[in-house]
This record gives sequence, structure tokens and C-alpha cells, in this order.
Amino acid sequence: MSFLKILVINAGSSSLKYQLFNTDTGEVLAKGLCERIGIDGKVKHSVPGHETYVEETPMRNHGDATRIVIRLLTEGETAVLSSLSEIDAVGHRVLHGGSEFTKSVIVDERVIAAIKKCIPLGPLHNPANLTGILACEEVMKGIPQVAVFDTAFHQTMPEKAFLYALPYEYYEKYGIRRYGFHGTSHRYVSQKAAEYLGKPAKDLKIIVCHLGNGSSISAVDGGKCIDTSMGLTPLEGVPMGTRSGSIDPAILQYVMDNEGIDIAEMTSILNKKSGVLGISGVSSDFRDLDEAKAQGNRRAAIALDCFMYAVKKYIGAYAAAMGGIDALVFTAGIGENNSAVRAGIVSGLEFLGIAIDPEKNKTREIDISAPGARVRTLVIQTNEELAIAIDTESLVKNR
Ligand code: ADP
Repeated sequence: MSFLKILVINAGSSSLKYQLFNTDTGEVLAKGLCERIGIDGKVKHSVPGHETYVEETPMRNHGDATRIVIRLLTEGETAVLSSLSEIDAVGHRVLHGGSEFTKSVIVDERVIAAIKKCIPLGPLHNPANLTGILACEEVMKGIPQVAVFDTAFHQTMPEKAFLYALPYEYYEKYGIRRYGFHGTSHRYVSQKAAEYLGKPAKDLKIIVCHLGNGSSISAVDGGKCIDTSMGLTPLEGVPMGTRSGSIDPAILQYVMDNEGIDIAEMTSILNKKSGVLGISGVSSDFRDLDEAKAQGNRRAAIALDCFMYAVKKYIGAYAAAMGGIDALVFTAGIGENNSAVRAGIVSGLEFLGIAIDPEKNKTREIDISAPGARVRTLVIQTNEELAIAIDTESLVKNR
């Protein structure tokens, strides 16, 4: 076996994203998206160097979608494999692994039961992720499957970082604690940062800012996550595209009483109508906010300020938590692409040894640190799908 072909699946409630990797080179052989599963059904399939293939075809469930993916991968003009048996393993993104999973695992009955047990913690995602796993088990019988959890990397947090100051019985009875998310990304980019710096991860204190539509910050000390900004759910932490991030919990009752809304509507507002969209009234997308700010929109400017200020405070907090910082890493849509936001976040952090070179910040360079800055500031592209493929390969090879 020279190299493995790993199919990575990210199943949502009515969608299924997939990428087929050659794990030797990290090359993507094909990728695509099935949408509107259970409604009607549409698939977009792309092979590097070829035009994207689009087909509208009924998909009653994730099993149908998986069969269509296999057909596109193995038959006709879209094919990149001669048969299904060329797929060595399937890696699945699973949102919530609770405290059960500290790393990726090969799926068996016990794992399926544990993912089910975590459904109350990830009610929107875990059922869909599980459906994806079950569909692949059915359609790709005998091909090993691996579950990679968004929460796993954060499970090294100490109790003082993950416990909420609530009656302890809620933790015991319901598992209410900080779990953290984007763990696959935080792990991948912190490892890449150590590689780039040419130092063992165990000797580094790294703060990773994963800034995308959803944003989270984590403190990685000696290769282990010791704290992260998202909590029981991805709602906690910095303000995001549409999520509020951390707020005074007493606000909920106050708004509900005044607006005459119930907790379900309140929670939906916190998840979908808050964050920079809520403050600006313009958009959840930072490109739109930049544009509105440039045109003099005051609320767009404040929304950006609130976001940058919140991220900056986490950097200060996590430098304190680790007793220092060697590298600050920006990743994901905003972290990788928005130089103005990066500059806004780090401004005033010179006292921590953080300073960026304004010119390098505008380029696509990895190291954007100012000459002589004690802390290295890096921009590293995240690749959660590749990380899932690498985990899957290593578990399958070491079986
Ligand atoms: P998600 O959390 O949905 O994966 P992303 O990581 O793609 O989201 O982040 C989305 C955010 O990243 C948006 O606010 C957008 O403004 C920003 N972004 C993404 N790509 C670019 C780009 N090429 N240039 C500038 N901003 C970008």
C-alpha cells in the first residue's frame, strides 16, 4: 500500500460535504457538496483541473447522498477511482464528543453509542454527523470509518478552565462544562506553527485565533490546549458573525420580559441575529463590514471594534494563563485574509512582545512579525478536512 485514499465527510442536517484525499501528498482528488437532502437534492462535484459537475437528483436521505457520491467518484466522466474498494477509509467530522473522546477513534458500536449520548450537547450537528456515519456504513460495507471530534483537542483543559461557577451537580448530572470547538483546526495550526518555527511543540506557548464565521481562541501550552473561548456550545467567547459570544446571562430574562419572547426565540436571536450582524445591522461578513466602515457606517465600525477588542482581551488573558506567549497564530477566513482586523487586534499588545510588520501583514507571508518582536505572529491556513484525513490514515494504518 503506497498511499491511502481517504474520503472525508462532513454531514449536516440536509447537506453532505466530501473531499477525497491522497494522504501522501495532501492532494485533493475530488470534492463536492450534496445539498437539500430530504427535500429534493442537488450535488456539486469538482475534480481539480475540470469544470464543476452539477446534478439535480433526488436524495431521500444521507444514504442516497452517499450512494451518489460513490457513483460520481467511480463512474463516468466525473470518476477518479476505478471502484469503491479503492477508498481505504472514511473520516467523519463530528461536532460534539463530550468528555468521552479526547482524540479521533475508529468507529464501532461503542463509538456510535457514545456519539448518540452526546446528542443533547450538540443537538443540531451530532444527529446529522451520526446519520453520515450510518449512511457510509451501509453503502461502504467493510471500509473503516473514523470519527474526528471538534471538541477532542480541548479535553486536556484543567478543571479550573472548564468548570462553570454553577451548582456542581449540573456538571455531574448534565455534563455542563466548557468543551470548546474548532479543536481540529486549533490542533492542526498549532502543530503547523511549531513545525514552521522549527521547535518541538512541547517547548512552545501558542495562542491560536481561529477567526471565521464562528470564532474561537485557544491557549496551547506545550502542545496541549489549556483553555479555549467557546464553551458548552459554540455560542460563548468573542462576538462572531451572528453569535453574541459571552454576555451577561441576566440579559436573557430582561429582553424576554420586554420583548415578550420565549427562551427558544431568545436563543435563536443569540445564535443568528447577534454578533457583528446584530451590532452593525449590516452583515455578518467582515468584508461587508469593512466596506460599510469605509463608507462611513458608524455601527459597522463599532462592530469591528467590539470584535477586535474581544479577541485582544483573550490574547491577554491566555498569555497570563500560560505565563507567557511565544507565538500568536491567526487562521480561518478572517484570520487568514483580513489584514486590517489582524492589525487592529494586535495594536497595543507590544507590552507582551507582540508586534507585526505592517507591510508583511498585507502580503501572504506566514511570519508577519515586526523585526525584533519577541513573539512570532504567524498567519497559517487551516485545513480541517486534511487534518481529519491525516488522523484517519494514522488510525487505519496502526490498527
Ligand atoms: P466558516 O466559519 O463558515 O468556515 P470562514 O472561515 O470562511 O467561515 O470565515 C468567514 C469570514 O471570513 C467572513 O467574515 C469573511 O469576511 C472572511 N473571509 C473569508 N474569505 C475571505 C477573503 N478571501 N478575503 C477577506 N475576507 C474573507
